[in-house]
Amino acid sequence: MANTKKRKTTRRKKKGGRKLEITIYVVAILVAVLVIYGIICGVVALINALFGLEINVGFNVFDSEPTSSVSEQQDPTSSTPSVDVSDVTSEPSSSETQSEPSSEDDPESQEQSTPNSQTVTPSGRKSRANADGDYVTYTKSGAAELNEWYLLLVNPTNLITSDWKTSMTDVGGEELDSRIVSAYRDMVEDAADDGVSIYAISGYRSYATQQRLYNNRVERAKNENPSFTQQEAEVYAAARVARPGTSEHQTGLAIDFNSVETSFGNTKAGKWLKAHAHEYGFILRYEEDKQSKTGVTWEPWHYRFVGVKHATKIHQTGMCLEEYVDYLKTVR
Ligand SMILES: [Zn+2]
Repeated sequence: MANTKKRKTTRRKKKGGRKLEITIYVVAILVAVLVIYGIICGVVALINALFGLEINVGFNVFDSEPTSSVSEQQDPTSSTPSVDVSDVTSEPSSSETQSEPSSEDDPESQEQSTPNSQTVTPSGRKSRANADGDYVTYTKSGAAELNEWYLLLVNPTNLITSDWKTSMTDVGGEELDSRIVSAYRDMVEDAADDGVSIYAISGYRSYATQQRLYNNRVERAKNENPSFTQQEAEVYAAARVARPGTSEHQTGLAIDFNSVETSFGNTKAGKWLKAHAHEYGFILRYEEDKQSKTGVTWEPWHYRFVGVKHATKIHQTGMCLEEYVDYLKTVR
């Protein structure tokens, strides 16, 4: 009996000792965790202070203010690497800020930035497009559409009058038909989100401006090719600079982007435009293999607004605008 009692007491003593050991162990772990957390907080605070960053350590119980990391997660643009911004702003010839006037200067952009006129695309991008995802509200269809402003065909055989006029909006030094400014801005912003810098270097041109450009090109053609007659020089020039009245730039619906060099077609910006412009209602107007139809050589920088519906169809079928207009005449 005595032996059993002794054993029980020893067991109890051992049990008590083990409990104490476990308690000390747990307390030690808790203290260690707190110390490590404290060190991490300290280091992060030091980094923030040194580099002006806003890194937040997850469950910061000491900070009663809403964490910046939460608001950043809600902003889809925050996932854009900062290099995109520098890419855009470091462009020497023209920058994002140049092609995007501040909303203070531009009453129209203020109007466009109201919540009602903005929709969010499935990709989370802000868009000024309408509920149909287009920049045009179609009231007609098929051949009846051909009289609408966005399908206006201007080419060497379809001239625009010298007094043709519409409401223009300045987009950083270049004027565009006011009705396509939303589409242009969305496209520029989304390209920037993809790390691509695109900007208009030429928008609306008056008849007089086109006349001057054309005359200059004829003179240059004659200087470069002394054997040319006046007529030959004019034909040569007309394939490169539209004759007055035949330029889409007189409509305010055409934009030349970044650089008027054919090498632009192989740049990141040229490729981005070719792949995405139709999503904003723009088409590459003068394709490499369509010169016989358009009368104009390949211009990878020249885009023309026709609305998302038509641009998408043109993009998918590979038609040029001349072919598309002919096709539309057959659609009831
Ligand atoms: Zn052009």
